Amino acid sequence: MQPLILPVLLASLWTVCTRAGDWCYQSQFTCDHQCNGPDKWNHANSNCGGKYQSPINIVTRKTLTDERLTPFQFNNYQQIFRGTIKNNGHTVVVGVPHLSTISGGGLPSTYKAVQFHLHWGKNGGPGSEHTIDGEQYPMELHIVHMKSQYNDLTTALADQEGVAVLGFFYEKSNSANRKYDPIINSLRSIKATNTNTSLLSISLTQLIPSEQNLTAYYRYKGSLTTPGCTEAVIWTLFENPIPLSMDQLRVFSELKFHDGNPMVETFRPVQPLNGRQVFRSGSAVILASSALLIATIATALGLSQPN
Ligand SMILES: [Zn+2]
Repeated sequence: MQPLILPVLLASLWTVCTRAGDWCYQSQFTCDHQCNGPDKWNHANSNCGGKYQSPINIVTRKTLTDERLTPFQFNNYQQIFRGTIKNNGHTVVVGVPHLSTISGGGLPSTYKAVQFHLHWGKNGGPGSEHTIDGEQYPMELHIVHMKSQYNDLTTALADQEGVAVLGFFYEKSNSANRKYDPIINSLRSIKATNTNTSLLSISLTQLIPSEQNLTAYYRYKGSLTTPGCTEAVIWTLFENPIPLSMDQLRVFSELKFHDGNPMVETFRPVQPLNGRQVFRSGSAVILASSALLIATIATALGLSQPN
């Protein structure tokens, strides 16, 4: 009987110390605060241990071009709205009026925008959830949409293709991106968890690259990247990043988790592909390969040699 006592004791302690639904990022885990980090999210919700989880690392040479991945139609993305930005203890989230929709882009239906939120690193360091050929960008924007026939995310998540998330990477730029001033200026008012403030006039268009720069993207099927980790998401990751200055990126690290510690490294580690295929739109990756081709031709013609 003796060997059984320890596991039973540990199991009962485990139940006492963790509450269902409690989860945290790895950056929040300390010896004093042993919260459920990403490797234990399946304790909070068994979906998190599923086969088709997100985020993933995209290996570009293993992606397949899919001609059906045509440009998106963005409807009412330019609509200016008054939003509320909230620190919910895991991220900052902005609810979006359900009037902005996306279609095309190889999606099976029209999807309407519900909310957007971000994932970031520490003081502008690596912070995106998805990675491209192992590269982690400083931040990632998720614009969450649901099929237009649904009225709430919970219902949409019961449909395997109920949710479409548009993901955008950020890159460091030398100058500030003034289109982000409303969001970045609002952050100082919502440093504490469960606080919110108004964004007086904002549009989705102002947050993302111009439409002609959104034709190159990756597509795969996965999940929410936070518990419940529901596998009901059609993922789109755009190749062209959004520029933000180092100062702008740093402001996100001034936000606080509920325990008062800096809200940093708010990303889930990449998950196994488990045989999934990642597709790319016709124009993805060509940006990089055409530059290489031009350089090769220039070298062959001797154009790169000084006279
Ligand atoms: Zn997200």
